Amino acid sequence: MDRAKLEILADSAKYDVSCSSSGSSRRNVGGLGNACSAGICHSFTQDGRCISLLKILMTNDCVYDCEYCVNRRSNDVKRAIATPDEICTLTVEFYKRNYIEGLFLSSAVYKNPDYTMELLLETVIKLRKLYGFHGYIHLKGIPGADQALIMRAGEYVDRMSFNIELPSEKSLRLLAPQKTKKNILTPISMIYGEKDADKSKKSRFLPAGQTTQMIIGASPESDGHVLRLTEGLYNKYQLKRVYYSSYVPVIKSNILPSVPTGLLREHRLYQADWLIRFYGFKVDELVSPNENLSTEYDPKCAWALKHPELFPLDVNTAPLEMLIRIPGIGVKSAHKIISARRYGRLTLEDFLTMKIPLKRAIHFITFTGKYFGYKTDKAITTALKAIETNGSYQQLTLFSSPEVLSSVLRGEL
Ligand code: SF4
Repeated sequence: MDRAKLEILADSAKYDVSCSSSGSSRRNVGGLGNACSAGICHSFTQDGRCISLLKILMTNDCVYDCEYCVNRRSNDVKRAIATPDEICTLTVEFYKRNYIEGLFLSSAVYKNPDYTMELLLETVIKLRKLYGFHGYIHLKGIPGADQALIMRAGEYVDRMSFNIELPSEKSLRLLAPQKTKKNILTPISMIYGEKDADKSKKSRFLPAGQTTQMIIGASPESDGHVLRLTEGLYNKYQLKRVYYSSYVPVIKSNILPSVPTGLLREHRLYQADWLIRFYGFKVDELVSPNENLSTEYDPKCAWALKHPELFPLDVNTAPLEMLIRIPGIGVKSAHKIISARRYGRLTLEDFLTMKIPLKRAIHFITFTGKYFGYKTDKAITTALKAIETNGSYQQLTLFSSPEVLSSVLRGEL
């Protein structure tokens, strides 16, 4: 593939964030590469984007006209299309040079959904069978394509995703009129059905499951709305991940916001998403349907501040499901606390020895009745806000010992 074409196709793919690679168990059977969990390096940039895959479009030549997209039909950009062999050669060459550990292949809708899906299918079949590539492949499916093509592709790739795109049908109609909720949800549901029917670990069908992505801030839906949709997708279709892509104006539009949504909103959604998946939180506890998440505090902190009746919690008696709800305490730390409690009552010094983060937690816990956090709501909220903004605060005399104080100053707590 020549450089100019590669630049166009790789650059066009950069707005898709749903490409983290995990959980695949595809094994090498005498070819090149390996997508077993240990064979893939999980590398993420600070804002959560995965960086170890060759991320490329088959083509950016689109017959659709999504309002927010740089590749939309009516936008005057350079167009290119790769052949299946060009994608295969590039992937294998990059893999051999250790540039990548896998491929994230997506495409604009070229001619029609079936034609595009056929090109993608041909590429992944060639990659596996002709080029002997056993590395990780994440394929972006084309909504509206023939179901048989989609299901066949699922046998050759590790993960597939169909983008929800926008959080409501109304916004989809306005901003991506050629896409429909039905066309997007049908393959998601079909894949779920197939995986549910064959739960064996050796199943070749999408071993790393499916994900989806939503654009945040291009349309007016609140975080509460977005997270309810997310919760429904996790519960109904067992998606591995929902990705949030904060809206960036890359194209002139009369109906889209002229300013970017900003990464803080995206970050808060990921934090809330994490709490839903791993901490037992329900969306209803975190944000009401028409509201956005707090920008001042992370979602767990915001929840804890709204529930003074539950805090401070005593670390020597609180059950695991409450320990993980303490701001700043993660699942790993909570398990450490439970294990350490078997040997005696824990003190603040024990927490320091165990390196349990206390910056936030100190204001929400007691050690057999002893409280070391700030005494007033105002002091607590000021301290928590300062942590969020990386600011410093000075009311340190409330801490019990010079060791605690210096640990806080060093940022270790
Ligand atoms: S289908 Fe829409 S979002 Fe996808 S490339 Fe075409 S215009 Fe862009």
